[in-house]
Amino acid sequence: MQEQIRKSDTLNVVGELAAGIAHEIRNPMTALKGFIQLLEDGVKGDFSTYFHVITSEIKRIETIITEFLVLAKPQALKFFKQDVHTILKETLELLAAQALLENIQFETNFEEEEFTVFCEANQLKQVFINIIKNALEVMPDGGSVRIKTRRFSEKYVCISIIDQGMGISTEMLKKLGEPFYTTKDRGTGLGLMVSYKIIEEHKGYIEVESKVEKGTSFHIYLPFES
Ligand code: ADP
Ligand code: MG
Repeated sequence: MQEQIRKSDTLNVVGELAAGIAHEIRNPMTALKGFIQLLEDGVKGDFSTYFHVITSEIKRIETIITEFLVLAKPQALKFFKQDVHTILKETLELLAAQALLENIQFETNFEEEEFTVFCEANQLKQVFINIIKNALEVMPDGGSVRIKTRRFSEKYVCISIIDQGMGISTEMLKKLGEPFYTTKDRGTGLGLMVSYKIIEEHKGYIEVESKVEKGTSFHIYLPFES
């Protein structure tokens, strides 16, 4: 009974999300149609900026769809035992170019021992990407993002991602993870929601600590696998 209630709740959430997402996709589509119309009409101008906007709008649609699929698709997840450090290192390699462009250094402080967790590596990678990208996005003048791992109690490994951005007020902290909550012009407000869901599926949890104008720390707790 309880399970059924939970399932129908999930369906409602997905339904509401779908409506929101349809709306979110309509805006970039309208923009794209406009540009194509201009090209069709043979309007002269600096097309390089058009193409830039077109690409960025298409990317935006892609991101929205990818994030939505994680939430909506009943996934047959394949969990394996993996070392968290390996997944983190692969994630940092993926983000290295972007960090370099934005003048940001990654400072890692990993425990020597392996931290084995039972996980879907690609999904965990998605969480790390989402949270580290958010860190990069709040440091427009560069700086360093710290990525730390430590043992937390007998049960958990804790992965911390620490930025030197503008921080988040206590009021705003409550809104993190709500669908479409974003303070960015070109944000989707889905990254954290997806991340929270994935970590929940891994029987872990996320804590956020923040000081306005000083920075924010995301702590991701995952149960150890021995
Ligand atoms: P998006 O990045 O598309 O806005 P997210 O779900 O990733 O969506 O994040 C939601 C909001 O949470 C962001 O718009 C921002 O206001 C806030 N946020 C997330 N991470 C940080 C951070 N490291 N520092 C400050 N604010 C953050
Ligand atoms: Mg984000």
